[in-house]
Amino acid sequence: MNSFKTPAVLLLLSTFIIGFSNAATWSYGGSDGPGAWGTSFPDCAKTSQSPIKIVHAQTTADPTLGSFSTSMFTTTPTAMELTNNGHALQVNLVGGYTISDTKVLPGNYQALQFHLHWAANGSTAGSEHWLDGVQYFGELHIVHMNTKYANISVALANSDGLAVLGFFVKIEGTTDNANFDVILNPVRNGNVTYDNDVMPYATPFPISQMFPTTFNDYYRYPGSLTTPPCAESVVWTMFRDPIVISQAQAQVLQTSLYANEETAATNVLIGGNYRPTLDLNGRVVKRTGSGAGTMGKISIREMAVLVSLICSAIFW
Ligand SMILES: [Zn+2]
Repeated sequence: MNSFKTPAVLLLLSTFIIGFSNAATWSYGGSDGPGAWGTSFPDCAKTSQSPIKIVHAQTTADPTLGSFSTSMFTTTPTAMELTNNGHALQVNLVGGYTISDTKVLPGNYQALQFHLHWAANGSTAGSEHWLDGVQYFGELHIVHMNTKYANISVALANSDGLAVLGFFVKIEGTTDNANFDVILNPVRNGNVTYDNDVMPYATPFPISQMFPTTFNDYYRYPGSLTTPPCAESVVWTMFRDPIVISQAQAQVLQTSLYANEETAATNVLIGGNYRPTLDLNGRVVKRTGSGAGTMGKISIREMAVLVSLICSAIFW
């Protein structure tokens, strides 16, 4: 059907992470919605689950957390394909970059795929994580696997098996984010309208192309996949600064993608594909930076005053 050569195993793994379906089905509403996931997928009922509500004032500054840099993401994958997996819009990667910097992640992690969660048509609330009481329009997740594990099954069984880097997606203004169109244009063109539709990219691109201008600050906590099987194997990173898109671009996501195949008797739009937040249950959410928010800035100002006083004393 197409010439896109993806190792079958990678496709399988990528599907497993978000589009996973065994004998049990799952959805974001109805009898197989999030409240029932634990029945068919026992890990979903555990106590270190994702997503969560992040409250900045309740996070702990960790000066050992380094900043990610653009150069970690600029390697262009060997091949990429956009797919509608019935639950989300996803890009599978072949030959994705590997982050090898223990200041930002506890191991070497290779990017496998990225995908989006977004608000239902008519709503503006669709992110999975919340930040300071705000549920954003959407959320981008880049899924990585720790390369020390032989395969995804082993990775899913370990607390450091996966690393997900998450960006909030915010609607602001009427100017399109041209970088975001790399995934929206195929949607507009009808290439991935239905479940299992796949469109290979003729020209792969580095994912950093979609990032916000700055992404120095982030939150870090141990959690899970936000879709069944909800394995508690994820080192979570949620960046503070969002990716900004226009209202019109949000509308494309909300009105163009369907949860069932083209031949299905009935169909529904994909949207509202977020899991409700779960309790922290004693987990600590860390954040980058050494200062304690506003207090840290005041201290720096006080330090400047002190330094100038000392200098004055020396020169006088
Ligand atoms: Zn996700």
